[in-house]
Amino acid sequence: MSTPLLEVKDLTKHFAVHGRGRAVRVAKADHVVHAVDDVSLALPPAHVTAVVGESGSGKSTLARLLARLITPTSGDLLLEGKVVPARRRRTLGYAKAVQMVLQDPFASLNPIHDVRYHLSRPFVVHGLAKPGRDLDEKIAAVLERVALTPAGAFLRKFPHELSGGQRQRVAIARALAVQPKVILADEPVSMLDVSIRLGVLNLLSDLRDRERLAILYITHDIASARYLAETIVVMYAGQVVEAGPALRVTDEPAHPYTQLLLSAAPDPQRADPVALGDRGVPPSAVAPPSGCRFRTRCPHAMAICAERRPPAFTAGEGHVSACWLLGNGAAAPASQKGGDMDPGTSGQQT
Ligand code: SF4
Repeated sequence: MSTPLLEVKDLTKHFAVHGRGRAVRVAKADHVVHAVDDVSLALPPAHVTAVVGESGSGKSTLARLLARLITPTSGDLLLEGKVVPARRRRTLGYAKAVQMVLQDPFASLNPIHDVRYHLSRPFVVHGLAKPGRDLDEKIAAVLERVALTPAGAFLRKFPHELSGGQRQRVAIARALAVQPKVILADEPVSMLDVSIRLGVLNLLSDLRDRERLAILYITHDIASARYLAETIVVMYAGQVVEAGPALRVTDEPAHPYTQLLLSAAPDPQRADPVALGDRGVPPSAVAPPSGCRFRTRCPHAMAICAERRPPAFTAGEGHVSACWLLGNGAAAPASQKGGDMDPGTSGQQT
């Protein structure tokens, strides 16, 4: 696999819990929301990495950390191999290289501005086009890159005059305008009608292939992750629990949580998919369970699961899972440190 365009190592984000009725930080170290804990992953060019998990698993916080909209508590972020100083403000250069597409295109586009205005802003802010003809040509070209043609039919439209799929394509065009290297797509199809989701997923797939973009695809839908991504990273309660090539993770899931996600995914071959809520709910992010955080919902939980956090065990080529079931003699830890599950080294689809 090529050198990653964006990489994180042991990234952690804890939010301080505020006092009752007062915006006072509680000083105790354990009074924090464990939003993201020790996450490592790498985004290579021309590659889609999907991060999958339920609401509250930390996947959107991870995207915001990668976009540098929030600062990490600890851990390293590297852009094209160079460490990005965590405490420094996000630079225009970083914003140009790493763009984000949000879940709700109706909320991310300003209702009082038309498509032309939305697409002119990135060119103007980053100084990438001269006003007049040059700007018009670049706006038309970026609309063509997201298959909104002829461009003239869309330039003067306002967000409410577009379909959900067209709005999301405008949001993607706005991200593409600055020629980014990395796109962070946070649930980009979950607000769209089922009938138009496939078109937007195929657009992301085309962009990966044509423009060699590194794409992080955040989703709660493991079936769409399998469709779009080469690598799947499964998050639970702020931690990575399984990672590897998409087909391996979905055909031979090694972690009981991934197995639960797959059993809850809609499948025309199966009449009665499991409801995630029937197997309990995710734990408190302020006081997560000791050891394995999934143990309160896991049908295979053992004594060791409450005592020690499982390290990443090798489950196959480029496939790792943080579960003591794999530690039962056969598999060796992929690393000495619990939770160090970097799918960036997990290789391509098998
Ligand atoms: Fe279940 Fe234990 Fe594996 Fe956690 S480590 S998923 S509790 S068997």
